[in-house]
Amino acid sequence: MLSSRLRFLLPVAAVLLPSVYAWSAPAPASAWHVLYEPARIVNGSPVVIRVTTPKPMKSLLGSWLGHELSFSFDSRQKVWYALGGASLETKAGVYALELHAEVPAGQAISYEKKIPVQHQRYPRVILKVPGKYTAPSPEEQKQIEEDKKTKDEAFKTLSAEREWQGAFKPPVEAEISDVFGVQRVFNGTVQSTHQGLDFRVGPGSSVAAINRGKVILARPLFFEGNCVVIDHGQGLLTLYLHLSKFLVNEGDIVEKGQPIALSGGTGRATGPHLHLAVRWQGIYLNPQTLLGLTLP
Ligand SMILES: [Zn+2]
Repeated sequence: MLSSRLRFLLPVAAVLLPSVYAWSAPAPASAWHVLYEPARIVNGSPVVIRVTTPKPMKSLLGSWLGHELSFSFDSRQKVWYALGGASLETKAGVYALELHAEVPAGQAISYEKKIPVQHQRYPRVILKVPGKYTAPSPEEQKQIEEDKKTKDEAFKTLSAEREWQGAFKPPVEAEISDVFGVQRVFNGTVQSTHQGLDFRVGPGSSVAAINRGKVILARPLFFEGNCVVIDHGQGLLTLYLHLSKFLVNEGDIVEKGQPIALSGGTGRATGPHLHLAVRWQGIYLNPQTLLGLTLP
């Protein structure tokens, strides 16, 4: 049986056959097969898409929800796979995944598969932080402006090569203290969406890179506190916030599981914890879903 987390999209050739056949039979050699995980995609979900092509291909490109998908070939399983995602703003609906493959002889073939996105309503919470984080002084506002330029520059990074490999690994072994997508109201005035995942760790815990990549930012910022950003390639960045100590420098290559910093409570934080964020092609995705994906 297929894992309940995976969902088969029926290939065109199998549509006329009883569905039980389509679920249990191996993929016919002449059909496209598209699988995606998680089975229930919501606004804010990262998604891994696996594609079996009707014949060997030289390359496979895709687009979904206005984003380009770079597919890699897993020669062991003979399947193409790519990471994608639906932003928090994505409305519920069915969105076509366009696939364009190049066969070794040079011609191109295309295929389209519709993938549904369901609506997820996220909770709202009220939090208290020091007053400077909701009413910064002119000097602090200047720093916030400078930080914005620093982040904009880092977020422009779009390395063509994929650096990550295999499943993503949690940055700390700790329980989750706040989930992704929560609508927060700070000090009764400032509203913001929680675009990351919080882990309950005291100060001084070792924080590890969730996959291989290059450190593109490791410096103190006003809201984020001491912040590390890792570029995993193909538009995928991970951010680690509120750190007490850096263990890496900008430009370093880090491996999955390598300690990059010690946790803390710097910046706009209600107390010590680790905030992990996943940014893909300019949108924030749910880190908890990414950590649960099965990846080759
Ligand atoms: Zn957080």
